Amino acid sequence: LPKLTQKYYLNFYGGEPLLSFDIIKKTVSFLKTKNKELHKRAHFTITTNGSLLSEEMISFFNKNRFSMVLSFDGLVHNRQRKKGSSGRIVGFIKELIRNSNIDLEINSTFTPTTVERLAESIKFIIDLNVSNIRLSLSTMKIWDQASLEMLRKEMAKLRKVIINHFRIYGTIPVVNFREFLSKRIFYCAAGKDRLALTPDGDIWGCYLFPEYLIKQENSEEYNKFYFGDLNTFKKDYEHIYPKKYLNYAQLSVDNFSTKSMKCFLCYEMENCAPLCPVNAAFSRHRLGHIPKYVCEIQKIKIKEKEVLWEEIGHVKKSSYYHHHELS
Ligand code: SF4
Repeated sequence: LPKLTQKYYLNFYGGEPLLSFDIIKKTVSFLKTKNKELHKRAHFTITTNGSLLSEEMISFFNKNRFSMVLSFDGLVHNRQRKKGSSGRIVGFIKELIRNSNIDLEINSTFTPTTVERLAESIKFIIDLNVSNIRLSLSTMKIWDQASLEMLRKEMAKLRKVIINHFRIYGTIPVVNFREFLSKRIFYCAAGKDRLALTPDGDIWGCYLFPEYLIKQENSEEYNKFYFGDLNTFKKDYEHIYPKKYLNYAQLSVDNFSTKSMKCFLCYEMENCAPLCPVNAAFSRHRLGHIPKYVCEIQKIKIKEKEVLWEEIGHVKKSSYYHHHELS
């Protein structure tokens, strides 16, 4: 691509990318040679559920300075993934932290049926010494009022866990809470800062699109977001890219709406991030339409983050006064 900067990011996503470990190895080796020729630098990331992870793979990722996003749902892992896989993943997490330089992020996903163990699950992961945990709430299944209420309670409990951690270590291990409250309008990176190549050789703005538009080859939406197959795109990207880009450019929160209102009229619009339109659309909604329960989830997250930062302000102040009283 003509506008690649000196440094670029290559993420291997799934399904499960470790099923194609040989292809990953070949790609990395090919790019190392190419990067030298073109004076580029690649930063590699692998997003994996860890089920196929081995010592050999860890050593390869370590040697090639990979970042890793590993799915692990703490105490509910065995309930929503392969039975008995939790112990193995915990072993790998310990190994990665102790014996590698891999920049590790744990992605923990909760659903309406597992949300009741959210806070203790994240605490369990924090206690494994993980310093980057991303909390994901699956929006594939509808969250009813009872599960939203449970989410409220669990998020408040989690906030206390994080504050306690902050008091002792001065860090916030859950990345969703970490970004300071900077107001900005969220836009989806798909097609703008990001392109995805599928195993079949198709180009999309993000790896979620082919999953979302599966078996809809003749639909208008498919055509709006599909960049074409790799060979066609390579030959004609100067024409194809700007046209498709315009469709991806619409995917920002000010263009979204719930059933009852346009998001640009919402007082939380500038705090409402990240809000993945494709994830929201998976629950049979159209792209850009935010289901009511997703909107509620966003509001719960916004509120908890605000309260957390308020409380952290108090912790900082009291430690400042404490320090000055002592000195
Ligand atoms: S909180 Fe709801 S209505 Fe407000 S911007 Fe977010 S999704 Fe839209």
